Amino acid sequence: MFRTLNPSYRIGKYALVYINVLCMQNKITMTSIFTVGIIGCGPIGIECGLHALHNGYNILLFEVGDDLASNICLWSHVQLFTPFRMNISSLGQTYLQAELTKDELNSYLTGQEYIEKYLRPLGLKFINNILFKHRVISIGRYSDENKFVLLVEDKNENMEKYYYVDYLIDASGTYKCPNSIGIGNIPAVNEQRLESFIKYDIPNLNDDRIKLSLAHKRILLVGKGHSAANSALLLEEVLQNVDYIIANVGYQPDRALYSNLNVHECYKTKGPISLAAKLLASCNDTTDCLKQISHGKESLKTTESNFFIVGVKSYGKLTNFLLKIGFEQVEQVFQLINESR
Ligand SMILES: Cc1cc2nc3c(=O)[nH]c(=O)nc-3n(C[C@H](O)[C@H](O)[C@H](O)COP(=O)(O)OP(=O)(O)OC[C@H]3O[C@@H](n4cnc5c(N)ncnc54)[C@H](O)[C@@H]3O)c2cc1C
Repeated sequence: MFRTLNPSYRIGKYALVYINVLCMQNKITMTSIFTVGIIGCGPIGIECGLHALHNGYNILLFEVGDDLASNICLWSHVQLFTPFRMNISSLGQTYLQAELTKDELNSYLTGQEYIEKYLRPLGLKFINNILFKHRVISIGRYSDENKFVLLVEDKNENMEKYYYVDYLIDASGTYKCPNSIGIGNIPAVNEQRLESFIKYDIPNLNDDRIKLSLAHKRILLVGKGHSAANSALLLEEVLQNVDYIIANVGYQPDRALYSNLNVHECYKTKGPISLAAKLLASCNDTTDCLKQISHGKESLKTTESNFFIVGVKSYGKLTNFLLKIGFEQVEQVFQLINESR
């Protein structure tokens, strides 16, 4: 059996590393054992939390930010392109316990409104299971016990810890890993050197400080198209004529997190192979991204048993992910978990 020590027991940083090694050898852990671990508390991580609650599982959610949906907080001023009715799940609606009017369901919320109207009330249902300011650094297999071991940075305590879980769901998004500007997703010439002049997110012009910092500046906006990338090829030259570059060039998954697991990835999209194969095969089926369908629970199995990648990260470099697909994914992942127990 695993034994739990009081996590508030404070010792020096180096002693802690030693204790953690002892934990592995003597099967003592400094934290409780939870069945389902979830990385990321965005809309899809929150949906995972609801399903875990619904199924009566122990859960632990790791969130690097100090609030839920902290990636959406970075684009909280942007209006979602799908109506509210497409951004809520049936389980979410049940837990919300609020009657939504037709007008509300058809409205287009900003990121901030979406957080306040939907994500926060739901996150509060299992708020005690969320570890804020906890960044998952790396994941491995603790083979003796068929568990996952996670190395986690606790930013509150400024220390690192191990956590052990039986099932692991990676819903950590892609927003913190923007693509590079250059052709073929490699950095443009001088891009890394001139990083401080380049903004990869969508500036919030409602924020006076940001508005002021960009006022009267010459700004080059780089989109995802090749011509835009071409124009930014020689950034140093470009910067002789502009003050800033805003590069909205898409995102890609941080795969370093699970590089010690046996996850077979698609060489093209960098998403997990089964789902990537389905997505690539169906990308010409419909030109309307809103009409896409999910590809069933089998497509969500990775080559590492009991490890799942959901949400926008599951699409790898593909750009057509939708929240409604993510909600279906989570439902299917919990079907797989239920079947395996
Ligand atoms: C500007 C913008 C507008 C969009 N509008 C729509 C729309 O209208 N409709 C739609 O269907 N989709 C939309 N999307 C696409 C997609 O639905 C969103 O990106 C959505 O936020 C994805 O949810 P997620 O939970 O998968 O990831 P995220 O919302 O990115 O959440 C991931 C969470 O994981 C945390 N995290 C990351 N790394 C770690 C780590 N190592 N350890 C611990 N925590 C970690 C992050 O802090 C974050 O809270 C939009 C995307 C963007 C960028």
